[in-house]
Amino acid sequence: MTDFAATKAMFHLPEGTIYLDGNSLGPLPRAATERVGNMMQHEWGDMLITGWNKAGWMQKSRDLGDRIGRLIGAEPGHVIVGDTLSIKVYQALASALELNPGRKVVLSDNGNFPSDLYIAQGLLTSLGAEYELRVVDPEAVEENITDDIAVLMLTEVDYRTGRKHDMRALTAKAHEMGVLTVWDLAHSAGALPVDLAGCGADFGVGCTYKYLNGGPGAPAFIYVAPRYAEKARPALSGWLGHEAPFAFDLDYRPGRGVERMRVGTPPVLQMTSLEAAMDIWDMADMAEVRAKSMQLCDLFIAEVEAKCPQLELASPRDAAYRGSQVSFKFREGYAAMQALIARGVIGDFRAPDIMRFGFTPLYIDEADVRAATDIVADVMTNALWDNPEYKIRNAVT
Ligand SMILES: *Cc1c(COP(=O)(O)O)cnc(C)c1O
Repeated sequence: MTDFAATKAMFHLPEGTIYLDGNSLGPLPRAATERVGNMMQHEWGDMLITGWNKAGWMQKSRDLGDRIGRLIGAEPGHVIVGDTLSIKVYQALASALELNPGRKVVLSDNGNFPSDLYIAQGLLTSLGAEYELRVVDPEAVEENITDDIAVLMLTEVDYRTGRKHDMRALTAKAHEMGVLTVWDLAHSAGALPVDLAGCGADFGVGCTYKYLNGGPGAPAFIYVAPRYAEKARPALSGWLGHEAPFAFDLDYRPGRGVERMRVGTPPVLQMTSLEAAMDIWDMADMAEVRAKSMQLCDLFIAEVEAKCPQLELASPRDAAYRGSQVSFKFREGYAAMQALIARGVIGDFRAPDIMRFGFTPLYIDEADVRAATDIVADVMTNALWDNPEYKIRNAVT
């Protein structure tokens, strides 16, 4: 059984704050402060360059990959950590395209995160004018998986609405049509159980600073299905993905399996804080996290709908079709979110009119949800958002 009271106590949650934005940036695991401090002093400070061997810095990408792999249903040894998610999207998409020669269309949806689409646009432009990115509505993905498509590239959970694709069914349909799949798990890893291997997914990518709580700038991960592990060619063929980086050969030879998806030097400080977060994740059962998350989201929807007729649900009502976040539409959503933040309820705003709230059972409980909805009701009922101060847009929303 996951002890949610114990996991909650392991996070630093500022007094007077109800944090409903762990879907964007997870909070600080208490142990991370000391762990990173120790690493800096005793490893970087005292060991200097010998830390790569003595403190196992080089091994961290793989060890962390396996710990994340447990949460996303990957086979051990097939996930590696490093770089940013945008880079991992590029690598996965480029490799998948090469593994499906002769086809030149990438299918995605307009609920995908812009960076994934931008990366695809950039890559396809480099590959040539005959390549095409086809973007359809999320509901129309299945019927658009046709036998001219090379790669289906989707984010499982829509960052704006929380709508969840059926990974199993879409992957099966893709394979039936000879299409490879790239699944972005940015809003899935740590939010709900993922079964990459069981679904037969070909590539998976995701970040570690959202639900996984690795801290701002924590590195991304990539999964390559075992059947492609020795075949995929990493388009970004950096020295750490080389078979023998320290041979300093002039010619590139891919490393073993997913190791080849390494690019350059990994961010060791960030991986150290991610380790502190994974110590908490190691205590969690994803099925229990999912059950509790559905319960918290359902409660939030029920309370907000009962108290705030001004807000319109923008997420699927049925928890089975939703990730671990709930969004409401409101014309003055930006100002309303600023008013909430000023009162200690932190969510975020996504243009044009989405107020987004993330629910993370590791540190959010029912009492938090009830307290948050009281504040949402106060802001909406008394139009507390109608204040010029709340209408000034910050760079990060
Ligand atoms: C958060 C997110 C990103 C961000 O990519 P970075 O390279 O980490 O900035 C990309 N794709 C999706 C689907 C995301 O949710």
